[in-house]
Amino acid sequence: MPEELQTGGSRFLSDLIRENRLDEQGFKEWVFEPGMLFGARDKWWGDRAQRDRPHEGVDVCLYRNIAGDVIALPCGSLVPVLYDGEVVSIIADFLGRTIFVRHQQYGRDGQDLYTVYGHVNPSAGLCKGMLIRAGAVIADIPAKSSKRSGLLPHLHISVALISSTCDADTLGWEIMRDPAFVRLLDPLLTVAEHYDKRYL
Ligand SMILES: [Zn+2]
Repeated sequence: MPEELQTGGSRFLSDLIRENRLDEQGFKEWVFEPGMLFGARDKWWGDRAQRDRPHEGVDVCLYRNIAGDVIALPCGSLVPVLYDGEVVSIIADFLGRTIFVRHQQYGRDGQDLYTVYGHVNPSAGLCKGMLIRAGAVIADIPAKSSKRSGLLPHLHISVALISSTCDADTLGWEIMRDPAFVRLLDPLLTVAEHYDKRYL
């Protein structure tokens, strides 16, 4: 996160641990394979071939417990929101749905800060226009996954500055890949706390 945005960081990873009681499961640290990270060129599943385009965010899926085992987040894991904001769009994606949340308090120079939650099952009653507080649960991770490709259920998070001229109805993965409207940021830089990035 560029310093000038001054979001103060997000407690997202702590909220994720708390909401899913991962500490009771012996949580020690998050684990990210190279292909899960922002800008990754390769897939972390299946044949690990090249992605069509650099990864637009980070995939949260694995953690290590105090016994040293690497555990996948189970289906149904709850997804908290990074900052106070407004739900502006919910669209379908290839594993579930994607929720776009706008955080206008962190906007600047004609752009608004967005956090985007991919491959999720939105919480009952969540809808466009709803105002939510940082840490509130907005979704869970659905069971649907691609067994054939070995793609585990996971949460995709993108953080982006998006032109204020973008109509919420046009938000989608296509526009997220358009540098004329969207500046993608590394989601892991928006979390103030320490995380472990040792690779498997
Ligand atoms: Zn992803």
